[in-house]
Amino acid sequence: MHLKLDISDEFYSKKRPYHPSDKLLVGAGPSNCSARVLYTLSHEPVLLPGDEVFKIMVEFREMLKFVFQTTNEATLAIQNSGTGGIEATLTNTVDPGEKIIVGVMGFWGKRVADIAKTRQLDVVEIVPQFGPVFTLNELETAIIKHKPVLLYVTHGESSMGTVQTLEGLGDICHKYNCLLAVDAVVTLGAIPLYVDRWGIDIAVSSTQKAARSIPGLAYLTFSPKAVERMKNRKTVPPFYYNMLELFKVWNCFGVRSIYHYTYNSNLLAASKEGIAEIIEEGLLETWQKHEELNKRLWDGLEKLGLKFYIKNPEYRLHAVTSVELPPSVSFESFNNFLIERYQIYISFGIGPTSGTCFRIGIMGYNATAKLVDYMLEKINEALKYCQGEKL
Ligand code: PMP
Repeated sequence: MHLKLDISDEFYSKKRPYHPSDKLLVGAGPSNCSARVLYTLSHEPVLLPGDEVFKIMVEFREMLKFVFQTTNEATLAIQNSGTGGIEATLTNTVDPGEKIIVGVMGFWGKRVADIAKTRQLDVVEIVPQFGPVFTLNELETAIIKHKPVLLYVTHGESSMGTVQTLEGLGDICHKYNCLLAVDAVVTLGAIPLYVDRWGIDIAVSSTQKAARSIPGLAYLTFSPKAVERMKNRKTVPPFYYNMLELFKVWNCFGVRSIYHYTYNSNLLAASKEGIAEIIEEGLLETWQKHEELNKRLWDGLEKLGLKFYIKNPEYRLHAVTSVELPPSVSFESFNNFLIERYQIYISFGIGPTSGTCFRIGIMGYNATAKLVDYMLEKINEALKYCQGEKL
């Protein structure tokens, strides 16, 4: 007997074909992608295992090393979103019962702690005491007090729109025999990130924010110290996330295996184009552009009378900004206006910004002056509409 597909008539009556780039994705991610990336996605997949996909991986790995600013051989992409990348780092480098510190600045830091607890790690959660982000001093004090094997911090906390200073943190961690792991899901390809120079042992990013592709891969890099730890772990990580096996698929250490699971070759090839766009533009130029354009956005929003969740611009992220809505404006009506009138998708607040803010992402392919100015115009319109002015 066949099961019937129970979907309303409305589903079938929707206009086809559906193309997501009709929408402007200016929330906390995913962001829009270039035609080049979308075109690359639209090819037939390649047969696995095979040399064609391996060729993509060889080039891709070198490109990822560059954007992470690292010489780590253990640099690769795995198949899942950023959350899976975080889970992979925790399950491969720390054994149950071992102590880690998680710096919780917002929703995403809390999530790292929650993932770690599912692995029965001994998790110490700390929150910043002197502002929205941590001082290096307070992180050092926590390391001295708790003696963790690993410190996990969020580089760009997109729930609030903050940036954590990392320069110097690696040296502090290493002084106490602690590894430094960083959630760079939003920051890779948006703001300065120097894995080697800053002594980061583990960094995780993903495809769909400033890295200019669609969701589906996590980018990971591990220092030799992190790999050493992985080799000496006492427990086995989940099969799908077994990094020592995946390093072989990516030929990280000159030992090649042809298969661990079927990679989505379209996604690999397209995401590689996204990273290529950053490299072609120049890493420094990309970072500078994100800074300039996000400041342009902030100036414009201030002129509209809006206020930011993070008051001090020094702590604000040049990628995702949390903006307070005036009390007279509900997120629902503001958001509906932008979607229904212009197909503009922003994000609602989450964690600390939930209920009071909207979040706007100027990053990756969407980081253009034209888009910033367009958004300011439409936000102004939406505010007027929500406050009852005739348009
Ligand atoms: N960390 C940060 C800072 C994020 O912004 C996000 C996604 N918004 C994640 C982790 C989780 O990534 P994903 O949704 O790709 O699983």
